[in-house]
Amino acid sequence: MASQNHHQLHFVLFPLMCPGHFIPMVDMAKLLAQHGVAVTVITTPLIAARFCQTINRATASGLPLQLLHLPFPSVAAGLPEGCESLEAIPSPNLIVNFFVAIDMLQQPFEQLFQLIEPKPSCMIADKHITWVVQTGRKFRLPTIIFDGMSCFTLLCTHNLHVSKVHESVSESEPFMLPGLPDTIEVTKSQLPLSTSSDSVVHNFLARVRAVEEEAYGTVVNSFENLEPRYITGFRKITERLWCIGPLSLCNKDNLDKAQRGNKASIDENQCLNWLDTQESGTVVYACLGTLSRLALPQLIELGSALELSKHPFVWVIQGGDKAEKIDKWMEEDGFEKRTNERGLIIRGWAPQVLILDHPAVGAFLTHCGWNSTLEGVCASVPMITWPQFEEQFFNEKLVVKVLETGVSVGAQATVNVLEEDNFAVLIKREAIKKAVDEVMDAGINGGERRKRARELGEMAKRAVEEGGSSYLNVRLLIQDVMQQLKDKGPNEDHNSS
Ligand code: UDP
Repeated sequence: MASQNHHQLHFVLFPLMCPGHFIPMVDMAKLLAQHGVAVTVITTPLIAARFCQTINRATASGLPLQLLHLPFPSVAAGLPEGCESLEAIPSPNLIVNFFVAIDMLQQPFEQLFQLIEPKPSCMIADKHITWVVQTGRKFRLPTIIFDGMSCFTLLCTHNLHVSKVHESVSESEPFMLPGLPDTIEVTKSQLPLSTSSDSVVHNFLARVRAVEEEAYGTVVNSFENLEPRYITGFRKITERLWCIGPLSLCNKDNLDKAQRGNKASIDENQCLNWLDTQESGTVVYACLGTLSRLALPQLIELGSALELSKHPFVWVIQGGDKAEKIDKWMEEDGFEKRTNERGLIIRGWAPQVLILDHPAVGAFLTHCGWNSTLEGVCASVPMITWPQFEEQFFNEKLVVKVLETGVSVGAQATVNVLEEDNFAVLIKREAIKKAVDEVMDAGINGGERRKRARELGEMAKRAVEEGGSSYLNVRLLIQDVMQQLKDKGPNEDHNSS
């Protein structure tokens, strides 16, 4: 990458302790360093351990990057020892404690921040760490927030907050999302928590909104050609908005793709060798992200659908106690034996970007987390969409209704994450199989969908190349921060006062 040297600039990145948030921010750190800016990522020791190899490789290649540790007060906040990331929380009731721990980090963060050399020029932090703007103010630095969502979601959420149309409809009555350039219907039961009237959620989200209002600007993992009208719409609300994605595309070689986010629980070569034995565009890759916790009967429906669909598949089953139960089912039922020839099951962390980029993969069965959605776009694969909660239904609408590169399994409502023992089967195997078959269809519709997915993937790659929109937006971001520094003058004190 042709980069000017901006070594006088030093960006401090502070991601939320949740894979869907820290993975793209570590990519962002590499991207900014590739553009010649010195970057420090501050995170907790266990999360840092997941990235140190990646960062070490980047540093060895000459990128100005460093990783600093900030101990996470798990026990003090009532979480089990070593619980440092949202996906590691053993019970949904402890989510509140997780955010208590994050609040407790402010003081140690500021102490560490004070010691950082060279002087930071700006901070890019996750907007869910709600004290960051206060810290930015103390250190007289522009605080830019990272938003792990699409502009489509940001605009929908903003318009709902302002119009409150959802407050006067029943749970299952479809209504039109207000103020959008497309006609998109949802139901109240598909809306994210940001529209909830629960007081704890309400207060937390009010704090997040205050962060949005005070922040100097917003960095989004998206690109101009993906959702142009939604980016334009959201720019009217947030003046300084830089779409610099897809961030995952900064991982060029197989090792970076394989080790992205965690140590994969399958050997990279074993995975690639298996994919090499499959014909091009025939494999369905099924992974529902890091936070989804399907009930055992629902997992069984998914496995049965993959079997019924007759396509080769890679099925990622995240760890936890259900993994043991599903293993028991597979053995007793004979599932693994029957599908052994054409199914690869990954128990634990999958090298998702490496898999998606393999030519054998023909479709992505996804929960529509924003990172996964974008990674599917980058890989030019059509998607089978199965949103679970939060803004995932918005992402599904974008994929199915606006981009027209996906088919829904027909999920009707968000899954209640606070319900621990959920035995519900919400989506039957026949519905999942139907969506898989439709996406894998060799006919005109399937072909058109694949063509659109291919075009989007090409646009994504062009966006991050030199001269592409995201490339230029990174430069604009850097120039903006540089200008801020100039305006501030050379004698500003680094320390808080
Ligand atoms: N991921 C991965 N391997 C896995 C599960 C997830 O690499 O086995 C990565 C995936 O590529 C994505 C992130 O974890 O970058 C998940 O983020 P997303 O926004 O898609 O969903 P979330 O897990 O936050 O719901």
